[in-house]
Amino acid sequence: MDKKRIYLSSPTMHGEEQAFVQEAFDTNWVAPLGPNVNAFEKEMAEYTGCGHAAALSSGTAAIHMALRLLDVKRGDVVFVSDLTFSASCNPIVYENGAPVFIDAEPDTWNMSPEALKRAYEKYPNPKAVICVHLYGTPAKLDEIMEICAAHGTPLVEDAAESLGSTYRGKHTGTFGKYGIYSFNGNKIITTSGGGMFVSAEEAAARKVTFLATQARDPARHYQHSEIGYNYRMSNVTAGIGRGQLLHLEEHKAKKREIYRRYCEAFADIPAIQMNPMNPDGEANNWLSGMAIAADSGVTPDMVMDVLERELNAESRPIWKPMHLQPVFAEYDAFSHYGDGRSVCEDIFARGLCLPSDIKNTEEEMEAIIRTVKGLF
Ligand SMILES: *Cc1c(COP(=O)(O)O)cnc(C)c1O
Repeated sequence: MDKKRIYLSSPTMHGEEQAFVQEAFDTNWVAPLGPNVNAFEKEMAEYTGCGHAAALSSGTAAIHMALRLLDVKRGDVVFVSDLTFSASCNPIVYENGAPVFIDAEPDTWNMSPEALKRAYEKYPNPKAVICVHLYGTPAKLDEIMEICAAHGTPLVEDAAESLGSTYRGKHTGTFGKYGIYSFNGNKIITTSGGGMFVSAEEAAARKVTFLATQARDPARHYQHSEIGYNYRMSNVTAGIGRGQLLHLEEHKAKKREIYRRYCEAFADIPAIQMNPMNPDGEANNWLSGMAIAADSGVTPDMVMDVLERELNAESRPIWKPMHLQPVFAEYDAFSHYGDGRSVCEDIFARGLCLPSDIKNTEEEMEAIIRTVKGLF
């Protein structure tokens, strides 16, 4: 079968990216740093209103740097969303800290304020809270920030999936003490690979830039007083990012239209629930997801299999919760209801992400919808 592949979410380039990259070549700014890096940071800061930004090699590196700034050390507890990609919590373990997983809530599929409160009863002094905006839907930030503030815990927003999403008119990633974005290949805009650390504090962005370039003291003779990292974004990569940023609003509009199409098409099938929106925000709709009623006789595997088999279309499961991952089995987790039922396990068991590539054609969208509906 050589039917064209329908992607979940693949890079969409426009041309300006290449122009910025060409400029880097023409001026021989191929090495790390250079004008594209500075300009991309400035343009991201202006777009998001985050204040200050440091361009890095990945979103994971940005989370790692946030935890370094918060001085997470051996044995320190860090609360983190349970329903997420492992990159949200791996950096906690890089620093020998202990992730504690906070369940999702059903309204937005994001960090449950109820589970968060419960976690504080056992661990009153976490070093940080890392809150994810899953698939681009803003979390319940008012409640989460209020809880964090009451305990004096700094909030780190993992906005890797939610660049361009807003909550009460303000960009996700700009609410916490620190925020991070990802430009990995399947995110809403991409640099092939990259990330950004953001903060309202200029000193924080400057410190991250310092740590990410091997922590060289201001001396001629390569002196180091701290452990550094080689985490900086290259000037070539930043050129791709500058070109992509010009099209972020357009990508968002197309992602929103994909989500709207699915909602409309599945409205007459009660067994299908689309991934929820937060009424207090506006999502970038990075991925459209759905959950299937448990008694419908249809499973996520059946949907993924039929899309693959009949349309050569890529879909994928909901992130497998972190507390179910073998590598994190030793760490604690707190559930939304507090009675053993886990919201993220339920979403994982019943959910999947539908093809959400902005290059999918009208015919492909129709075929996907028809094929999914055929199962119900
Ligand atoms: C993609 C992603 C990351 C990591 O970003 P990279 O740039 O791939 O390192 C972190 N958290 C979440 C929720 C992600 O989806």
